[in-house]
Amino acid sequence: MANKKKIDRNRKREHHRRHRACPFCTNSALEIDYKDFDLLKRYVSERGKIVARRNSGVCAKHQRRLAKEIKRARFLALIPYVVYTYR
Ligand SMILES: [Zn+2]
Repeated sequence: MANKKKIDRNRKREHHRRHRACPFCTNSALEIDYKDFDLLKRYVSERGKIVARRNSGVCAKHQRRLAKEIKRARFLALIPYVVYTYR
């Protein structure tokens, strides 16, 4: 019983991926701009939600910028607010 718990915990750790560097910090040529909605779309889920930092690997500074630009792009209807998926 106790042994099984230990194994489960170890398995969880295997799933945990190492933090990757923020793509915007790594590549200075990459700019976050509301007009570049092809780039912004990569940080928006299938449903239209902004992808969380822990999933996207973007740093806090750039995530703030990203969220702002995504919202700007949404306002201009370049990106949808919600995507309705039908089951
Ligand atoms: Zn960054």
